[in-house]
Amino acid sequence: LCAPDTKFEMETVTIRGVRTRVWKHALGSLPELARHARNHGDHTFTIHEDERISYESWFRATRALAAELAAMGIGKGDRVGLAMRNLPEWPVAFFAVTSLGAIIVPLNAWWTGAELAYGLKDSGARALICDAERWDRIGPEANGLPDLKHVLVCRGDAAPDAPARRLEDLIGTPDRYPGLPEGDLPDADLAPDDPATIFYTSGTTGNPKGALGTHRNILTNILSSAFSAARACLRRGEVPPAPTPKVMLTIIPLFHVTACNAGLMGGIFAGHTMVFMPKWDVVKAFQIIEREKVNTTGGVPTIAWQLIEHPDRTKYDLSSLEAIAYGGAPSAPELVRKIKQVFGALPGNGWGMTETSATVTSHSAEDYLNRPDSCGPPVAVSDIKIMAPDGGRELPVGEVGELWARGPQIVTGYWNNPEATAETFVDGWIRTGDLARVDAEGFCYIVDRAKDMIIRGGENIYSSEVENVLYEHPAVTDAALVGIPHRTLGEEPAAVVHLAPGESVSEEELKAWVRQRLAIFKTPVRILFSGETLPRNANGKIVKTELKPLFETEQA
Ligand code: ATP
Ligand code: MG
Repeated sequence: LCAPDTKFEMETVTIRGVRTRVWKHALGSLPELARHARNHGDHTFTIHEDERISYESWFRATRALAAELAAMGIGKGDRVGLAMRNLPEWPVAFFAVTSLGAIIVPLNAWWTGAELAYGLKDSGARALICDAERWDRIGPEANGLPDLKHVLVCRGDAAPDAPARRLEDLIGTPDRYPGLPEGDLPDADLAPDDPATIFYTSGTTGNPKGALGTHRNILTNILSSAFSAARACLRRGEVPPAPTPKVMLTIIPLFHVTACNAGLMGGIFAGHTMVFMPKWDVVKAFQIIEREKVNTTGGVPTIAWQLIEHPDRTKYDLSSLEAIAYGGAPSAPELVRKIKQVFGALPGNGWGMTETSATVTSHSAEDYLNRPDSCGPPVAVSDIKIMAPDGGRELPVGEVGELWARGPQIVTGYWNNPEATAETFVDGWIRTGDLARVDAEGFCYIVDRAKDMIIRGGENIYSSEVENVLYEHPAVTDAALVGIPHRTLGEEPAAVVHLAPGESVSEEELKAWVRQRLAIFKTPVRILFSGETLPRNANGKIVKTELKPLFETEQA
């Protein structure tokens, strides 16, 4: 599982019946990961437009920023906000802060000034590292943030107003990073279970909650993902290859664990070149894939859909793509087949949540093509079980209930929220709030979020089942099922769909399509057509709360 030049001692262990070689002493803290990554030297780490930063340059910038933060008095346990687009400064700030034993708080760059201020206030951040665009939003709120003593702003035209300072005045612009002094990161005497991150959940079902993650949580996630890839080879009777540096296009935002913990951290470990795309644009993505010979991309399912659907796709050479993997949101089985068919690239899926530091289940391409409605089996370090909704007993194979998970990548709890922590983290397990089933071979199938399940006159209707049938219709590229109120039945299913360019289909035809494939009570009583793709949050999840009112206005 290690690059051949790794300095860590290996040992042979048996994990779930598979004999494999793992680190005897796994990396214990994020600065150790940074030191390991520094061995990738002059190899390009990040590409952002025409800026190319090597691993060594990134390490020097990280070290310089860590020294500046230490001089400001930032140390163990202090929270430091990080609010910016996917820029090269992001991994600099992330490792500078965590190398001091301080806790990095990545904030959603899509948030308004008030929402960003909420994140800073909730976490009690003493410092903030942000881009000028975010500072324009937060600045007016800064008076309400008495804990916030230091602000470093990057990529601004003008010098920011006090108390903010320019990040570039402290460590220079990226082209100056190679000239920064070499040397090591500070020694903060960190233990694996020291807190490292507060990532906020997406806020799909309520207010975003801060999940307090440790150094161990993130590092185990890297290892277990690497092991999952190796496991797929072992199952085919092949020897897993040593990880080779790839070119990865990072499209989804780093302030969520999918991009940060699964993408960026795994990439740093393997020595990948990470191409950042601060603003999503399909054609620009095609150009980058062609120019940089990108090997892997994805992130969330909607990105894969958009790459597939775009009419200009065939104008670009995308043959370097080897894998398109995603997670973090439901995906239709149709997508798996399309990725293989259109790109020849291998599809991958994983299930996880902010509270699990990213990956709990991981689906290898081969398994995924055979079971396109599953999100894979649990990773080696995790257990999953399906519990009755009241949490009272475990359900047998095949039955749908609440998914519970455990493993060393699961965070310690919610920041500053003991009630939510007590409800969600139970006896070493996390109650995920997702409804799922597990088959006899251990593959997990997500059927809905408990809060989205529609109950029509006592019958359960799982969104994904109906949405997947809608996606199978050749004209449909986006679909969401929501419950709308009914006087006697409680709720009824209704759908919103978006059609591929140039396609047309009537509401009655679509209803008939569902009726032929599913029980009649699951057929949407109303289907609305949206001229645009459906509203999604930064993690690619459809915001169903924005869709329900469409039907209320209809009924009114
Ligand atoms: P909040 O907890 O604030 O309501 P959220 O749960 O949407 O927001 P995240 O932690 O970003 O915030 O998302 C985790 C959720 O994403 C899971 O609970 C699950 O519903 C969904 N999810 C993640 N991966 C997958 C997947 N591979 N397939 C289907 N759903 C997934
Ligand atoms: Mg959640």
